[in-house]
Amino acid sequence: MSKIKDITNFLETLAPLSLQESYDNAGLIVGNPQTDVTGILVTLDSTETIVEEALSKGCNLIVAHHPIVFKGLKKLNGKNYVERTVMQAIKNDVAIYATHTNLDHVVGGVNFMIAERLGLQNVHILAPKNDVLMKLVIFIPVENTQNVLDALYNAGVGQIGNYDHCSFQVRGTGSFRPNQNANPHIGTVNTDEAVIENRIEVIFPAYLENQVMAALRNAHPYEEVAHYLTLLQNQHQEVGAGAVGNLPEALSVHDFLAYLKQNMNLNVIRHTALVKDTIQKIAVCGGAGSFLLNDAVRAEADVFITADFKYHEFFDADGRIIICDIGHYESEVFTKELLQRYLSKKFPNFATILSETITNPVNYYV
Ligand SMILES: [Zn+2]
Repeated sequence: MSKIKDITNFLETLAPLSLQESYDNAGLIVGNPQTDVTGILVTLDSTETIVEEALSKGCNLIVAHHPIVFKGLKKLNGKNYVERTVMQAIKNDVAIYATHTNLDHVVGGVNFMIAERLGLQNVHILAPKNDVLMKLVIFIPVENTQNVLDALYNAGVGQIGNYDHCSFQVRGTGSFRPNQNANPHIGTVNTDEAVIENRIEVIFPAYLENQVMAALRNAHPYEEVAHYLTLLQNQHQEVGAGAVGNLPEALSVHDFLAYLKQNMNLNVIRHTALVKDTIQKIAVCGGAGSFLLNDAVRAEADVFITADFKYHEFFDADGRIIICDIGHYESEVFTKELLQRYLSKKFPNFATILSETITNPVNYYV
């Protein structure tokens, strides 16, 4: 039997919580991590109807994209849909988990699902984040180097794009003198020692810090492990907002709009002037993405597919790109399929069910 924490731990290996935006509230919002899971309902939003649907389908865990609670709740009186949803979930022992901007920010997340729906190739992050990579420098006796490196690699260190086991080493002499309380791996108490050591440099995503440092302490032979840990300003190409990729073949702009409408199941596309005759390079951002317009232009995308553009923001296209606002719900609804795919593969022992409720609060009269 899997517990809720098994599910959430797995989801957090795909989309670590530390990658969420500061305003966000991703994570386990309602529920006890130790509860056994009877079934998972995946949804874009958590609402009272979704809690009912979970109950009717025998699911005691809702995995949503949008957190039902953003700000602190000071009272639970059922005065609005947020309070009512939380109360109903608690009363019925249904847990609610959200994987939100952290899932937006990873390779294989929300934006990669949109890219997949559109058949894009060579997809990568549109606006890679900085301040999410760390560099570790350590000093190891020559004969222990490979052991320690292997332990670090296993902990997720040294992955750069399509390469793993990336490290740099240079050899030198380390010196130390153990005092009377020390229990040195090499050397003698109160005696100066010099050891030929390798200086190793590796990088890793900051969210792995605890497991990397634990692996280092475990594998390193020294009682005191000399090391430097630095937060890098380098961009991490595999963490960030939006995605960009190419259609296998360019489409005429009108064919592209029809293709977009069909593949994303749209009623309507709000778009700026059709300033490109053919479309091949495409930037995407599920949900509110206007903050990425300049990144999309810089990436030389022909179109930017996103949602929640305001009237004045449409002007910012300024003849450089075509903005296609396809609606917030429409841009993210396939996140359900994405989550179901990951969860049912990892946990085949119980059902991961797609919610059938349309939670879009926006309706179209056409
Ligand atoms: Zn959203």
